[in-house]
Amino acid sequence: MISVTEALAIIARNTFPRGEEQIPLQEALGRVLARDVVSDTDWPPFETSAMDGYAVRMADVSLPGAALDERAEPVAAGGALPSPLLPGEAVRVMTGAPLPDGTEAVIPVERARREAGRVLFEIAPAPGAHLRRRGESVREGTRVVSAGRRVTPGDVALAALAGADTLTVFTRPRVAIAATGNELVPAAEKPRPGQIRDSNGPMLASLCRAQGWAAAARRRVADEAAGIAALFDSAGKEEDVLLTSGGVSAGDFDLLPGIARRQGFEILFHGVSIRPGKPIAFARRGGTLWFGLPGNPVSSSVCFHVFVRYALGRLEGDPSPGAPRVAARLARDLPPGGKRETYRDAILENAGGLALVEPLTSAGSHDIAAHARANALILVPAGATPQPAGATVECLLL
Ligand code: AMP
Ligand code: MG
Repeated sequence: MISVTEALAIIARNTFPRGEEQIPLQEALGRVLARDVVSDTDWPPFETSAMDGYAVRMADVSLPGAALDERAEPVAAGGALPSPLLPGEAVRVMTGAPLPDGTEAVIPVERARREAGRVLFEIAPAPGAHLRRRGESVREGTRVVSAGRRVTPGDVALAALAGADTLTVFTRPRVAIAATGNELVPAAEKPRPGQIRDSNGPMLASLCRAQGWAAAARRRVADEAAGIAALFDSAGKEEDVLLTSGGVSAGDFDLLPGIARRQGFEILFHGVSIRPGKPIAFARRGGTLWFGLPGNPVSSSVCFHVFVRYALGRLEGDPSPGAPRVAARLARDLPPGGKRETYRDAILENAGGLALVEPLTSAGSHDIAAHARANALILVPAGATPQPAGATVECLLL
């Protein structure tokens, strides 16, 4: 059986950005940029005031207590460009106003007072005080946001001031989700004896949507060859990635991998040394990928976070695909690792600036109640020795 690392390497070899598209800036948050954003302007675009105050020349205010003539017209942000500053003159300027040529400092209104038709300044400013220089933040023609970056609100601000009202981003992978199993009924139904409600379908759709990936729910499929064959047959028409739950382990009714193969999928792996989630399958037919996630709800979720997030992230060009990883201190002792790399439910919290992680007790890979409380998974390497409280462990953020 292959390791988690080997499985991720196989996924990496089969996942590349699918395409690019131009989208309006307002829709770009969270998307991965395919092209650099270059500014068509300096920022600030002109010499401007950082304060409501008075534009002055240094020679006129070399000592505190200087009194100057105030120009009749103040300059507001958005106002016309004022004429140059004359010797002995002070011009009232608002924050963001274009400054008269010749301005060498701005004295805040709080340090000035009007007296007998003149303005008196309490202070002698430092040269350049409260001036914002043209281009001091961004130079025209320079890159303000780089290709490969997942767009943040700050990037949106930069793109807007740079004049980029559309951005070129990588297309998002389209996902379809199908739960398989004879025992499944929808949440709206009361299960008869032996039946259970399908929780994986809604969970997997939510896991996708939490990362911004559109997920279409397919009809539930019974453990029966014709229905499963039809599912694989139609895969790829409307999605890049098909996610299924159930039917991939060693039971008599775990039919998916065999039928996927007969429907032309190449099985790239089936079985990974991971706990929970060992039976996971990954396959490809042309541009269509299939993840066969195990039916146990915790296994399905863990496999999503460890493998599917990584794959979908790579498909949209994410430079650091997959669930984020952090180091944290154990809040209590951790038992030794088993034969397989194990992902344990845990609650990670900020304890006075330190990341502290508490392993949760779980009844097993069906214990979705414990898993739903977790906000992190502790990665316990295969064969790891027991770790005492206070030891540092690696965690995946959910
Ligand atoms: P399987 O992987 O098909 O062998 O299923 C493993 C376990 O997960 C069984 O106990 C199933 O009843 C359960 N299971 C399968 N599919 C789902 C689902 N969609 N929602 C909740 N539990 C499921
Ligand atoms: Mg089953």
